[in-house]
Amino acid sequence: MQNILKDVAKMIIGSRYCIAFTGAGISAESGIPTFRGAGGLWEKYKPEELATPEAFTRNPKLVWEWYKWRLELVFKAKPNPAHKVLARLEELGVIKCVITQNVDGLHREAGSKCVVELHGNIRRARCIKCGYTITWDKPPEEIPPRCPQCRSLLRPDVVWFGEPLPENEWRKAVEHASKADVIIVIGTSGVVYPAAMIPYIVKERGGVVIEVNVQDTAITNIADYVLRGKAGKIMVKLYELIKREVTS
Ligand code: NAD
Ligand code: ZN
Repeated sequence: MQNILKDVAKMIIGSRYCIAFTGAGISAESGIPTFRGAGGLWEKYKPEELATPEAFTRNPKLVWEWYKWRLELVFKAKPNPAHKVLARLEELGVIKCVITQNVDGLHREAGSKCVVELHGNIRRARCIKCGYTITWDKPPEEIPPRCPQCRSLLRPDVVWFGEPLPENEWRKAVEHASKADVIIVIGTSGVVYPAAMIPYIVKERGGVVIEVNVQDTAITNIADYVLRGKAGKIMVKLYELIKREVTS
């Protein structure tokens, strides 16, 4: 493992345009459950049955109860060492941008400046009628919450299953991926499309794919380097190796 880590560190240092692509697994150590393997109260509901426009039309209250629970976890959560390492590597000029599928906002909170949020942000809500948007600083009390302008229902400003990605964010993600010669893929199962195309764009253009995950995923078969373990632990080790080289 130590040898692979050294090779990966060298690869990242020598890169021209290194980016990171992250999923729910990078926030697991911050106490935010991933979709595959969530726990507690909501175990009996599948995210695919709640995070959809149809579920919201059928039962906005149920969908908002679930989001309120998730918002409570997000507001309690702090960026963990893996988020912080990505922010430090950007400061050092070693990585250029983080493309994330996460909606928790922890990359920005950790200090990353270039962040592309492909699936929106759970701390924001928007009116289904007039488009008014609101950013919460705590979970809403009224469930389901209503628009302060027109009293229609608000919805979480996130991308639900079956919905298109925000055009601007997708364009930016593809631009970064098209320039990248190295991509670090952290904590994603790689099954949610079109987001999961990002590592393939890098690979097809001859770039190097590094995977950081606790287990095999849909991306493992295209990965040039596989680092098995928790994101926090692995990213800290990688950072120590990179920092030593870059600052010496
Ligand atoms: P996923 O739940 O499908 O997969 C999580 C991945 O993380 C798995 O491959 C798992 O092995 C890995 N993992 C778990 N703990 C880890 C750790 N400590 N270190 C490294 N890897 C770890 O998540 P996904 O691929 O992001 O796709 C699910 C969708 O769910 C996304 O589109 C996202 O919008 C949404 N989501 C977001 C959050 C969040 O914002 N924190 C949380 C749950 C789901
Ligand atoms: Zn409104």
